[in-house]
This record gives sequence, structure tokens and C-alpha cells, in this order.
Amino acid sequence: MKRNKPAGACVSTRFATFTVPLLILAVTATAHAQAAPDPASFAPCVAGLKAAAVARGVSPEGYERLTASLVPDMKVLDLLDYQPEFRTPIWDYLAGLVDDERVADGQAMLAQWGDTLAAVAARFHVDPATVVAVWGVESNFGRNFGSRPLLTSLSTLSCYGRRQAYFRGEFYDALKIVDSGDVSAEQLTGSWAGAFGHTQFMPSTFLRLAVDFDGDGRRDLVGSVPDALASTANFLRKAGWREGEVWGYEVRLPDGFDASGAGRRNKQSLAAWSVRGVKRVDGTPLDGAGNAGLLLPAGPKGPAFLVFRNFDAIYGYNAAESYALAIAHLSDRLRGGGPFVTPWPTDDAGLSRAERRELQTLLIARGHAIGTVDGMLGDASRAAIRIEQQRLGQPVDGRGGQKLLSALRREGGAGQPLQQDGLDAPTQGR
Ligand code: CA
Repeated sequence: MKRNKPAGACVSTRFATFTVPLLILAVTATAHAQAAPDPASFAPCVAGLKAAAVARGVSPEGYERLTASLVPDMKVLDLLDYQPEFRTPIWDYLAGLVDDERVADGQAMLAQWGDTLAAVAARFHVDPATVVAVWGVESNFGRNFGSRPLLTSLSTLSCYGRRQAYFRGEFYDALKIVDSGDVSAEQLTGSWAGAFGHTQFMPSTFLRLAVDFDGDGRRDLVGSVPDALASTANFLRKAGWREGEVWGYEVRLPDGFDASGAGRRNKQSLAAWSVRGVKRVDGTPLDGAGNAGLLLPAGPKGPAFLVFRNFDAIYGYNAAESYALAIAHLSDRLRGGGPFVTPWPTDDAGLSRAERRELQTLLIARGHAIGTVDGMLGDASRAAIRIEQQRLGQPVDGRGGQKLLSALRREGGAGQPLQQDGLDAPTQGR
């Protein structure tokens, strides 16, 4: 999922909402018909922000030192306004985020950091599997922090584009983090929008909630796994996490169920759901503490879930129900749980990251210049997928699913030559 989109705690620039039948992971950007930004105005703009930064707590010397060599990165403005044409179905989103590989990696992390996680749970009252699931989704267990220098991105977004007031606040907070010595400017890299470190906190979230758990005097969400795990738990606790309670579980709806009244926020008592015929997916009665909302990520014909208050705490980390479901489900898988019982309403299931890498390898073998095999199906991969779908007589939608992968596997090797019917369209670079 990384890294051409924002991520991280309380990043208000990443939106995802459920629609039926597709999940839109699109940033609903406003059309921007502004004049091209003028790089010459950058230095005066940054100079003009000094007073506000100092008022916010950045030292005057620190401001001068940390901004002296900044140059704008205009590419982040394109990312700010990026509108993906491709709508990612929920089953694709989850297939990539909660796959066997991430479950195995997460279980290895639970073992490796067991003592730390036990201490975190004792202090913050959030269980290890949930904390590790957030870590796995946010940065793939510390493997992917994002590589954009935060001060560059945030200063650019502070001076250009459509959300300058918001990004100025994050810019000042990022300066404070470096100025205080918690994280060095060199280590402060992340997503284009400013999320960084193991937990992909935004700078403002860092200042509110980051914790020095290893006791070295620095809150270091880049270099310290204990600090990162404790900070994640602290976030969830402050978001209302209740120890010992479940996030929710999959349920089975009776035939002819009236799905009006569904929705995470529309919480009702378990007695009310029981009266309407809702049972746990294994047929047992509903249980759990408090009221629950009915989540139907793909409509009434797909998997259904009752979600409790702890689901809302996860949602607070990143306001998207798809995201919260990925973390919740990964945490269950880390505890030994299985995949969802009810299939998604599709005859062409999504691909794990291993399968995406295999698909990319098969595309490259057919001559498509899609860049490196990274398991992320970006624009270049999708362009190649369209060409192969057309050649194979499949619906041409640019989506990499099991049907295309199976067809290419059956062909094996390099498959059919590309040079036919003028279909060898140039693929884009990443
Ligand atoms: Ca520390």
C-alpha cells in the first residue's frame, strides 16, 4: 500500500469510505485550476513563516538552521491533488494488507518483541496483537517508512496548494520534533503528507502522543521499536480502547435481512440485533460488552460484522472503515483466527502481495516495462494488465485479480508475443 498516499495516525488527507459495491480509496480532490506554483516564492514564504513557528515553540536558531537549505519539492503538490482513476474493491484492499505473509511476519514480531509488548500492555492496556497489527499495516513492521524528507514536503505544502493552513501546523510541529532532538532531520522521512516512522504518526500526533518507552530520553518513532509500539498503544488508549473487549466479529444475517440501520455509528444493543436474527457467523448467539454497529463493507451479500467501541478506537488511528477492518482482522489472524467465513461478493478474488509479485513477474516476462517487482499494482502495472486483459478476452478494467493471474499462469513463461493488433502500447514509468 505504500507509499504514494498518505498514511498514519489522524492523517486527514487519507479518505476511504465504503460504497456499495466498491470501496473508494480515492482522495476526493478538488479540481485545481490554479496557476503553476512559482518556486521563486518559496524562500520568502518560508521566511514569512518564522514568526508563527517560533510562537509555536520552535527556537529562532533552530528555525534558521533547519530551513536554511530547504528547497521545495513540487511533486508533493501532484500527490496532494492525485485522483486515482482506479477504485480498489474492499476485497483487493484486504487481500494485500492481511495476507499469509503479513500474518507470519506479525507472529514473528510478537515473538521477537514479546517482553516489550507485555510491558506495553501492562502500562497502556492494549493487547500485543492489536499493537502489532497497526505496526504491520502502517509500516510493514518498520520496513517502509516512506522516503520523502518531511521538512521538504511539509514546507512545500505550507507554501503551495490547497491545504496550507493544515500543513503549516504540521510543518511547525515537525520542526519542533527535530529542534527538541527527538528525531534528526535526516531520519525524518515519510509519506508525502508527513506521516513518519514505524507508526506513521503525523508530527502533531507525535507531539501529543509519542512515548519514550526505552528510557533513553528521546521519543524516537523511527529508531526505537519500543517507543513506536508504546506510542501506538498510547494512541489507542487515548482513542477509547477498552482492555479485554473485542473489536467485533463476523456475523451471519438471516435470509431477507433488512440492511437499513447498518453502519458503524448506528450502534444498537446485542438484544436488538438478536431479535433481528443476527448470529455469530458460526451460528452461536451474540456476545460482547456494550452496543454494536453492523458493518457491511460490500453490502448485505458480503461478509457482515458487528463492531464495538474498540473498532472505533482503531478507526481513530486513520479514519477509514476499510483500514480499521484490516487492522482488526489482522489482529484476529495474529491470534490464530482464520479468514472471513462469508465470501466477498465477487467471482474474482483479490491477490495477496506474493500473488501480486507473481503477476508482475508474468507481466515483465511478456515485455511490459512496469519497473521493479514490488507487489504494488500501480499505474504502470495496471496499464500492462489492461493490455493483457484485452489480449486474453477478459474485461479490461486494469484490475489484477485471480482470473488474470490464473490465465497468465496457464500460459506460463512469456506467453504470447505482445506485437499483435497494435496492442503493445508503451507502459508508463512509475
Ligand atoms: Ca526512546
